[in-house]
Formats: sequence, structure tokens, C-alpha cells
Amino acid sequence: MNLGTGRNAPGKTLAAIFVALFLLPLPAGADNKLDLKPGYNFYSPREDAELGQEYSAQVNRQLPLLDDAEALNYLNNLGKKLVAFAPNNQPEYAWKFRIVNSPEINAFALPGGYIYVNRGVFDAAENEAQLAGVIAHESGHVVMRHGTHIASQTLLAQGGLAIIDSILGQRGNIGSQLAQLGLGLGVDSLLLKNSRSAETQADDVGAYILYQAGYDPHAMAQFFQIIAKKYPQRTLQFFSDHPSPENRIQDVDKEIAQLGPPRAGSMDNSEFVGAKENLAVLTPPPERKGTLKTDAGNQIPPPPSENLVRFDGKIFTLEYPANWQTERGEDNVALFPPGGMVTGSEGETSQAYGASVSLFEPQDGRSWGLIDATQELLDSMRQSNPQLRVLQQTGMNLHGNPAVSTLLQNDSPLQGQRETDHLVTVRRRDSVLAFIFIAPAGTFESYAPTFDRMLQSIDLAR
Ligand SMILES: [Zn+2]
Repeated sequence: MNLGTGRNAPGKTLAAIFVALFLLPLPAGADNKLDLKPGYNFYSPREDAELGQEYSAQVNRQLPLLDDAEALNYLNNLGKKLVAFAPNNQPEYAWKFRIVNSPEINAFALPGGYIYVNRGVFDAAENEAQLAGVIAHESGHVVMRHGTHIASQTLLAQGGLAIIDSILGQRGNIGSQLAQLGLGLGVDSLLLKNSRSAETQADDVGAYILYQAGYDPHAMAQFFQIIAKKYPQRTLQFFSDHPSPENRIQDVDKEIAQLGPPRAGSMDNSEFVGAKENLAVLTPPPERKGTLKTDAGNQIPPPPSENLVRFDGKIFTLEYPANWQTERGEDNVALFPPGGMVTGSEGETSQAYGASVSLFEPQDGRSWGLIDATQELLDSMRQSNPQLRVLQQTGMNLHGNPAVSTLLQNDSPLQGQRETDHLVTVRRRDSVLAFIFIAPAGTFESYAPTFDRMLQSIDLAR
């Protein structure tokens, strides 16, 4: 995160690649109220299944999977019951459901019907309909073939028809074809980075499946909203792979109105409660440890100390790890571990790890609202951070004060890395007090408990 004012930062031009969309999907027929059709795709459903199989073998080695027969049985029964109602389902799809032993609230789907649900989803879901909503949404990514749709888009963007002929003409397996396009498999694969429009489509399919299977079709969108508010830092990965569509709830409501008269939703929670209780007494998820990669020339910070000390600012106080240092500016303070500040080639320093607190004055004088003021702050941050992207934004309550929680993705000052930022904004008199928690994307999870404790310790009563 570059925390300069951005006044002197040269504006970078985004290299935009324009693709001739000569293969746009046909518009839905007038008789079809819901447009539940996949986008253009150069691959066959069989290749989705092949890719998913190869991909899942890799993911199964990378992630800690929970091997509890009872829980897996419950999840697979629920999953199969749901996908029986999925539109555009194909006989080639494997439909295998697995539980990742992680407290993070996350779920993802690989092409061809391999769905992974984190243990954290079971913890956070309040009823079976909410869990079913997550599975139904993920199934939506599978049947709308979003993974191979991304691969098809990449293929188009990288070379048009000539390269398509040469790559698709080869008889190698689809995984190695994608590797040629720079689309690796594994848990960080770009094939899992869905667009907002893919999310909207997965929501549509999810609500449709829930309705057909007799669950409350609102449960999915509501669950996404609840978890974003309640567990902002445990849902980061989810909202980075599933960027939240704007107006998600309203969109789903609109769709539900087209589905037909409301049905009596399934109220039987007994199996869900059993599975949840069963999971709760199993081996706890492994401790979160930072997976720090060495970065040439930069020191890797030591883990944050468990021991917190208090920082006294002019209009707030907060606690931070005892092994961090602080650097005060006029209207801001940076709190960071050793190695948390990075010096660039032109001598400028940027923060790669830690937290920063600053005071921002919106242009509009006294009449501004917090959401607009946060937008204005983001616009000004973008001047020196052109790759800054909003993943998720929700309202939150900061010890009785209305606040806005914004999850961001940005280029890290560490070469070749992306970073995750959690921005919390709150009004203080005529200004916005902005707390930003910063870490490289692959490490953010290991910092999240510390960031949570810091957030909890904030005191604005001065
Ligand atoms: Zn999604």
C-alpha cells in the first residue's frame, strides 16, 4: 500500500486488451424468463470433468481435508440432492463434495463438479438452508462452466483464432493446454477468480436450485451478507474468489419473484444440527501459520507478538503487537513489524505489512455521508495505487459508532506479489478516521487474528 497523497504519482495507463467478442452467447429466448445459460466456451463438458479431476488431485494435496465419514456423508447427500435440480447439468460431472479443515469461511468449486466447503462455513451457517445456499451457489459456477469460460476468455485475449487452433488442435490434456496459457491449477489458480457477472449468475442458479429443492431461496444471499458483516476477516478469501455483486439481495429477490408462487421451505434442521455438532468435537483446525515466501532483498517480518501494547493517538487509542514499531506523521501513524516497510527503486517507502491510521477530510465540508466519504478516500488512494480494487464493502459497528468495512486488493510493494487490505472508516467530527490493515495476499490470513485484536482494541472516546 502506497500511503502517499498521490499528487506526484505518475498516472499509469492500464494496458487494456480488447477482444472481439464474436462468440457472444445468444440472448435468452423470450419464453425463458431466467437466463441460466453458460457463456461462450471452447471446451466440452467432458473437458471440464477432466480438468476438475486433475485439478482436484492437486488441491487435495495442498489443503488439509477433513476425513470424517459422517460429516462427508451428510455433505455429499445434501450436495447431490441439490445438484439434481441444477440447470444445464451434464452426465460427465463428478459431483464430489469435500470439507476443508479450516476456520476461514470459504467454499470453492472446480470445473466438472468438485466442490470444497470449509469447516468455517458449517460453524457460521445458522441452518441447513444457508449451508445449502453456499453449495447451490458453488454448483452454479460448475454448471455455468465459469472455470473453462475464464480459460476461453484468456485464450481469446492471448492470441485470437490462430493460437486457439494451435492449442485446441493439440491432443494433450486440458491441464497442460491451460499451463501454456499461464493458467496454472492449484488453490491460487486464476480459474477460480470469478467476475462479478459470474457471481450474479451463480447467485441466480443458486436461488433457482434452492427454490426447486424446497429451501428458502433467500437463504444464500442473506448468508453472504451476514458473514461479510460478522466475520470480515474470515471471509477474505471467499470474497476475493467471489467478488460480491452489487445489489445481490435485490437481484435475488427479483429472480425469486419470477420463479413462481412461494413454496413451503424445508424447515428440517435435524441432520444439519447433528453434522454441526459432530464437526465441532472433531480435531480442531490446524493453527494458522504464515506461509511466508522469501522476497529478494526484503526481510520477512517475524510473527506478530501475542503481547499487545497501547498506542495513544490524538483522537483514538489502539493496541498493537509489542514487537512492532510506530512512525508518526502529521495526520497519520504507521504501525509495522521489522521489515514491514519497503524501500522502492526511487527511494520511496511503502508499507507491505502492518496497520496505518490516518485522518482524511472530505471535500464537501460537513454535509458528507460516510459511504461517499469512503469512496472519496478510495479515489484519492487510487492515485498512488492504480491497481486498487474493492472486493467487498459492508457497514459495521465500531464500538457503537457506525463504520464502513472495505476489503481491498492491491499490488504489494513486494515485487510480484498482491496484497490484501482491510479498510475501516469511521467519522470523527468533520473528518474520516481510516484504519488500514495491510499484508501480502498469501499472508493476510495469518495476520488476521492480530488485525482482529487491534480492531477490537480501538477506543475513540477521546
Ligand atoms: Zn461465487
